[in-house]
Amino acid sequence: MGSHVTSELRNWSGTYQFTAREVIAARTVGDVQRAVTAGGRVRAIGTRHSFNDLADNGATLVSVTGIAPDPVIDEAAGTVTVGAGTLYGALASWLQDRGWALGNLGSLPHISIAGAIATGTHGSGSRNRILSAAVAGLEYVAADGELRYADRSTPGFDGMAVGLGAFGIVVRVTLDIEPTYLVRQDAYTGLSWDRVLADTDGVLSAAYSVSLFTDWGGDSLRAAWVKRRVESAAAVVPEEFFGARRDPGPVRFIDAPADNLTVVGVAGPWSQRLPHFRLDSTPSNGDEIQSEYFVGRRQGAAALEALRRRSRRITPLLLVSEIRSTAQDRLWLSGSYGRETMAIHFTWCNRPAEVDDAAREVEAALEPFAARPHWGKVSHVTAGQAAGLYPRLGDARDLFERLDPGGRFSNHRLERLGVRTPR
Ligand SMILES: Cc1cc2nc3c(=O)[nH]c(=O)nc-3n(C[C@H](O)[C@H](O)[C@H](O)COP(=O)(O)OP(=O)(O)OC[C@H]3O[C@@H](n4cnc5c(N)ncnc54)[C@H](O)[C@@H]3O)c2cc1C
Repeated sequence: MGSHVTSELRNWSGTYQFTAREVIAARTVGDVQRAVTAGGRVRAIGTRHSFNDLADNGATLVSVTGIAPDPVIDEAAGTVTVGAGTLYGALASWLQDRGWALGNLGSLPHISIAGAIATGTHGSGSRNRILSAAVAGLEYVAADGELRYADRSTPGFDGMAVGLGAFGIVVRVTLDIEPTYLVRQDAYTGLSWDRVLADTDGVLSAAYSVSLFTDWGGDSLRAAWVKRRVESAAAVVPEEFFGARRDPGPVRFIDAPADNLTVVGVAGPWSQRLPHFRLDSTPSNGDEIQSEYFVGRRQGAAALEALRRRSRRITPLLLVSEIRSTAQDRLWLSGSYGRETMAIHFTWCNRPAEVDDAAREVEAALEPFAARPHWGKVSHVTAGQAAGLYPRLGDARDLFERLDPGGRFSNHRLERLGVRTPR
């Protein structure tokens, strides 16, 4: 077990400095159990790709990314069970090598599975639920240091998949899998706002996964990335997408190099097409701040129009925005709980004070749409607002308080948002 006292632990983008005094790099489940039984506040940390103080606690953090993945496929159940700290991209490659697949992935393969599911991370696709919805079981170190298991038959499990690290340290995760499949992604340029606003749901639902990139200005969006499941590498795709033309590439994404992106225009395994970024390359821009909001897809066009009206405030601070869709689910703290969802994401320049103001303006513009913020990104949501936005938040709090009565896994953010009881 590695343990170090830290004064300079930062999140992936460097925009948040942790206050935790100690980070324990667990190599075994026993290391995690010892860290928990040692007493005091303790919290799991993943690959630090979140943009706020959600993972922090001013005390002890435990990383499970150093525990061996040891993936095990259960063909009869259609699941894989794997170390919770494993990177999504690593599991995806391993599954692909064996003829298996996950139903979806986020844009980034470098995030840990446990960290991603804990915050309700999602990809795109109107019929694809968020990544946490594929969680069939969780093995976790509980507040008393014991190893416990929960699955879909466990009462309250719908409150645990998007668990915000609030009930224990997850050490193994069981995920639904399916036979491998091919995906072809194509970029289209010249997609007009008129077409998007006339049929937002139709555009977002036109393929297995659709991502729209925009800076909110002008008459057209920057690009649509369309990921289609195809039967063979020879599959032909349309040259047009709602009036936009297929871009043969090379395609660029914000100001990052083109070669950090997954391949466009040629079909390939799901594991190498569903993420936007390649596992073997540095992702995104890096010097950035992110925020994201989830609104009901039926109000999608109105929400987009509300933001377009504020483009003069938003665009100068923006690297890019991405608009995606997800299917509804029943996970208590999911951004897609109970409604077909449109996700509106902002990758901002690293100018914290100005971005803070702009994000508040975005939140004000989206308030009429009951926009739920992404748990792992910048937002100013209050406990009162969160309680209204997440109808099962009170149930989640009761569950977490029952599983962790002493508040060992709590922190200021969870208490501020009413997810844990203040102590
Ligand atoms: C470039 C980039 C691209 C992104 N793309 C997407 C995207 O496509 N879709 C999307 O929805 N989000 C996206 N995100 C956000 C990201 O998926 C989330 O912030 C996610 O939580 C990151 O996982 P992590 O392992 O870094 O978690 P961390 O940030 O380290 O932790 C997040 C939370 O998970 C908890 N946690 C971590 N490990 C465990 C564990 N073992 N047991 C219990 N709780 C645990 C922590 O306590 C904390 O509450 C992106 C972020 C970046 C930087």
